[in-house]
Amino acid sequence: MTAQIIDGKAFALGLRARVGELAAAFRGSAGRPAGLAVVLVGDDPASNVYVRSKGKATIAANMESFEHRLPAETSQDDLLALVERLNADDRVDGILVQLPLPAHIDAQTIITRISPDKDVDGFHPVNAGRLMTGLPGFVPCTPLGCLMLLEDQLGDLSGLDAVVIGRSNIVGKPMAALLTAKSATVTIAHSRTRDLSSVVRRADIIVAAVGRADFVKGEWIKPGATVIDVGINRTDEGLVGDVDFDGAASVAGAITPVPGGVGPMTIACLLRNTLVAAHRNAGVALEE
Ligand code: NDP
Repeated sequence: MTAQIIDGKAFALGLRARVGELAAAFRGSAGRPAGLAVVLVGDDPASNVYVRSKGKATIAANMESFEHRLPAETSQDDLLALVERLNADDRVDGILVQLPLPAHIDAQTIITRISPDKDVDGFHPVNAGRLMTGLPGFVPCTPLGCLMLLEDQLGDLSGLDAVVIGRSNIVGKPMAALLTAKSATVTIAHSRTRDLSSVVRRADIIVAAVGRADFVKGEWIKPGATVIDVGINRTDEGLVGDVDFDGAASVAGAITPVPGGVGPMTIACLLRNTLVAAHRNAGVALEE
């Protein structure tokens, strides 16, 4: 193995500690803690684990956690009514509705009802538009975490060739927008991309957000490239990423492991977005 392992877990712990200190200072100056409301509809086991760990992390970071667990048969109107109540609640700075939602609820309708100023997931079309136009807003947590790891590893990204595999609204597209804003030369690949291996071989930076175990092969990777593996795939061998780790680690310059790479960054960035939301909502300056 030649690649350096990018320790997302350690980076995320450092970020969470900094956010925790700033959240304690916020509590002092605003006279109330920053608050994050997490809404879970139904009892999807993976979502349950995510919601529990988000709640714990929020409290550990000196913020208040409001958990709303609703039965799977909750109607779309009832969920919209809860979102409206949270929009109007001054103790709540950030609102996160855990996805996926049951099939009878339209996720886009729910996301669009969250106040853009409390949309700490960064999924609201207004925040997507702000990201595209370079305005301050909320950036989705997973690509934000990937960008932090990349800048920590590589410094200035300008002029580097980046290939993002995946074009979802929550990972691929915002990742491409962030890399473009940092002046990388960005290619977005997806299931219709022709000759993906040649496209990937050009890249100095590869971000894989495909959702297929061991999909990106070591032979596709340019020697020395930096590989960010967003994938979380449950297999018989446990949790694996979208990149064939052993193959990639023998050619890449640096690579994130799964688990322990991008995953921990997502929650850390959620806390950071909530801290930013609290300062904006309370009109308090954030001294970073
Ligand atoms: P989506 O299923 O929404 O998107 C997957 C993307 O991969 C699509 O754009 C799709 O292309 C593309 N794709 C699928 N098959 C191929 C192929 N054969 N060749 C090239 N591209 C392909 O997934 P998400 O973006 O939501 O998530 C991606 C992965 O990241 C998943 O494993 C998910 O679990 C993980 N994830 C991890 C997070 C974390 O905290 N670490 C957070 C969020 C997600 P097309 O658009 O053409 O269909």
